[in-house]
Amino acid sequence: MLTKQHIDDDSDFIESTDKNPSNILPEKLTLDSHLQFECHPKVSCFTACCHNIKIILTPYDILVLRKRLNLPAHEFITEYTEPTYLEKTDMPGVNIKLVGEKNGCPFVTPDGCTVYEDRPSACRYYPVGMADFHEGGSDDPTEDKFFFLVKEPHCKGHEEPKRWTIREWRSDQGVDLRDEMNKEWLRLVMRRKSFGLQATLSELAKRMFFMASTDLDTFRKFIFESSFLETYEIDAETIAKIKEDDVALMLFSFKYMANTLFGAAGMSIKAEKIQKKVEEIKSRQDEALQQAEKEYEELKAERACLEEKRQAALKKGDTGN
Ligand code: SF4
Ligand code: SF4
Repeated sequence: MLTKQHIDDDSDFIESTDKNPSNILPEKLTLDSHLQFECHPKVSCFTACCHNIKIILTPYDILVLRKRLNLPAHEFITEYTEPTYLEKTDMPGVNIKLVGEKNGCPFVTPDGCTVYEDRPSACRYYPVGMADFHEGGSDDPTEDKFFFLVKEPHCKGHEEPKRWTIREWRSDQGVDLRDEMNKEWLRLVMRRKSFGLQATLSELAKRMFFMASTDLDTFRKFIFESSFLETYEIDAETIAKIKEDDVALMLFSFKYMANTLFGAAGMSIKAEKIQKKVEEIKSRQDEALQQAEKEYEELKAERACLEEKRQAALKKGDTGN
């Protein structure tokens, strides 16, 4: 669940739980619920919500923004973002790096947002948050998502007369596509959150999550320049698609991470690779067995030698008497 948040609110994605009860209205809303709100350049607070905020970027946000700015992923990440942890987990991500005396978003001007058509998901959702229990890992279709309103004192949009249904508002903000693009990635984060930190995640796995989430250029290199394609069963059509199409590659990366981080179905290792691995393990076991046998034989020989010496000493003692 993503929405803009002022820096004094320490939650990453505003959730259905009342972490910030004064700003999140307790009412559960549906797509047909009504919302009185409008944001336009004439509101007295125009661009107030683009300062002192933490805006988490999803992989799709990064992809769209860096294409707009015509930058390679790593340059965009260095220039416009800073690292953070997602949703109080150990999953690394990025948020927009604020700039200037007013601690503002680098894309804000007095006339508004300079990347408006490609603004991040969090900016689109505001002030309507969404809670989706499917993100926690449940596949139960009866567990519906619901919406909630974030009402912060500085935001005067709530005083505007315009009324919409949540459905109309969301369609106006173009969030359906964002929902679709962000869904599986958010689900990874929420899974991590629901598993708790006692379930270990290696540093390598975290680095992979960060790389795939922020830098699709490098993730593509990983797919095509490592032994990845020799290891996994990937059909020719998917290979051709992820080679050229960034969105397809991003969605593929979510599938790969769900499989490697959480053991989700959907990716399989090639039979010959499994066979090779089994042979490697067997060979290591055989070596260990041979070594153990060798050590046992050496120990036996040492004992026999000692026994022989002891007998000889005894014999010598007998003779001496
Ligand atoms: S991306 Fe645009 S809408 Fe979002 S905080 Fe920055 S200036 Fe504001
Ligand atoms: S009305 Fe709300 S969303 Fe619009 S500029 Fe003001 S604070 Fe931001």
